[in-house]
Amino acid sequence: MFNLKKYRVSSKWKKNRKRRLAYDSGECQGMVIRNGKLAKCLSTTNVDVHHKSYERLGYEFLDDMVVLCRRCHRAEHFRLNKQDYRQLSIDFDPI
Ligand SMILES: [Zn+2]
Ligand SMILES: [Zn+2]
Repeated sequence: MFNLKKYRVSSKWKKNRKRRLAYDSGECQGMVIRNGKLAKCLSTTNVDVHHKSYERLGYEFLDDMVVLCRRCHRAEHFRLNKQDYRQLSIDFDPI
Protein backbone atom coordinates (compact mmCIF):
# COMPACT_ATOMS: atom_id res chain seq x y z
CA MET A 1 0.00 0.00 0.00
CA PHE A 2 1.26 3.46 -0.93
CA ASN A 3 2.09 5.46 2.18
CA LEU A 4 0.47 8.80 1.48
CA LYS A 5 1.33 10.11 4.92
CA LYS A 6 5.05 9.70 4.23
CA TYR A 7 4.71 10.92 0.68
CA ARG A 8 2.99 14.17 1.58
CA VAL A 9 6.01 15.27 3.64
CA SER A 10 8.62 13.97 1.19
CA SER A 11 10.89 16.10 -0.96
CA LYS A 12 9.58 14.19 -3.95
CA TRP A 13 6.04 15.47 -3.38
CA LYS A 14 7.37 18.95 -2.71
CA LYS A 15 9.01 18.85 -6.11
CA ASN A 16 5.94 17.47 -7.85
CA ARG A 17 3.53 19.91 -6.25
CA LYS A 18 5.85 22.78 -7.13
CA ARG A 19 5.50 21.86 -10.81
CA ARG A 20 1.73 22.23 -10.61
CA LEU A 21 1.94 25.41 -8.50
CA ALA A 22 4.13 26.97 -11.17
CA TYR A 23 1.77 25.79 -13.90
CA ASP A 24 -1.26 27.35 -12.21
CA SER A 25 0.75 30.45 -11.17
CA GLY A 26 -0.16 29.59 -7.59
CA GLU A 27 -3.82 30.40 -8.31
CA CYS A 28 -6.78 28.29 -7.24
CA GLN A 29 -8.36 26.57 -10.23
CA GLY A 30 -11.60 25.87 -8.41
CA MET A 31 -14.89 27.15 -9.82
CA VAL A 32 -16.96 29.57 -7.80
CA ILE A 33 -20.04 31.69 -8.39
CA ARG A 34 -19.02 35.32 -8.75
CA ASN A 35 -21.56 38.00 -9.63
CA GLY A 36 -24.01 35.26 -10.50
CA LYS A 37 -21.60 33.65 -12.96
CA LEU A 38 -19.43 30.57 -12.78
CA ALA A 39 -15.82 31.78 -12.61
CA LYS A 40 -12.38 30.51 -11.66
CA CYS A 41 -11.60 31.16 -8.02
CA LEU A 42 -7.96 32.28 -8.62
CA SER A 43 -7.32 32.81 -4.92
CA THR A 44 -3.63 32.71 -3.97
CA THR A 45 -4.06 32.41 -0.20
CA ASN A 46 -3.85 29.03 1.53
CA VAL A 47 -3.39 27.10 -1.67
CA ASP A 48 -2.93 23.33 -1.74
CA VAL A 49 -2.09 20.99 -4.57
CA HIS A 50 -4.92 18.50 -4.88
CA HIS A 51 -4.76 15.14 -6.65
CA LYS A 52 -7.27 14.76 -9.43
CA SER A 53 -5.95 11.26 -9.92
CA TYR A 54 -4.16 8.94 -7.51
CA GLU A 55 -3.13 6.58 -10.30
CA ARG A 56 0.45 7.81 -10.55
CA LEU A 57 1.30 8.68 -6.94
CA GLY A 58 4.99 9.50 -6.72
CA TYR A 59 5.34 10.30 -10.41
CA GLU A 60 2.25 12.40 -11.10
CA PHE A 61 1.61 13.90 -14.49
CA LEU A 62 0.97 17.63 -14.41
CA ASP A 63 -2.67 16.89 -15.13
CA ASP A 64 -3.02 14.53 -12.15
CA MET A 65 -2.86 17.55 -9.85
CA VAL A 66 -4.51 20.94 -9.52
CA VAL A 67 -4.05 24.00 -7.33
CA LEU A 68 -7.00 24.64 -5.01
CA CYS A 69 -7.40 27.09 -2.15
CA ARG A 70 -8.37 25.64 1.21
CA ARG A 71 -12.03 26.43 0.69
CA CYS A 72 -12.27 24.93 -2.81
CA HIS A 73 -10.14 21.97 -1.71
CA ARG A 74 -12.50 21.20 1.13
CA ALA A 75 -15.50 21.47 -1.17
CA GLU A 76 -13.84 19.13 -3.66
CA HIS A 77 -13.10 16.48 -1.02
CA PHE A 78 -16.62 16.80 0.29
CA ARG A 79 -17.85 16.06 -3.22
CA LEU A 80 -15.36 13.19 -3.64
CA ASN A 81 -16.29 11.65 -0.31
CA LYS A 82 -19.63 10.83 -1.74
CA GLN A 83 -17.88 8.61 -4.23
CA ASP A 84 -16.16 5.46 -3.13
CA TYR A 85 -12.68 6.12 -1.80
CA ARG A 86 -12.39 2.54 -0.65
CA GLN A 87 -11.57 1.40 -4.15
CA LEU A 88 -8.31 3.32 -3.96
CA SER A 89 -5.38 1.36 -2.58
CA ILE A 90 -3.98 4.22 -0.55
CA ASP A 91 -4.11 4.97 3.12
CA PHE A 92 -6.32 7.85 4.10
CA ASP A 93 -6.14 11.58 4.59
CA PRO A 94 -5.89 12.12 0.84
CA ILE A 95 -4.02 15.12 -0.54
ZN1 LIG B 1 -7.20 17.01 -2.36
ZN1 LIG C 1 -10.57 28.47 -4.49
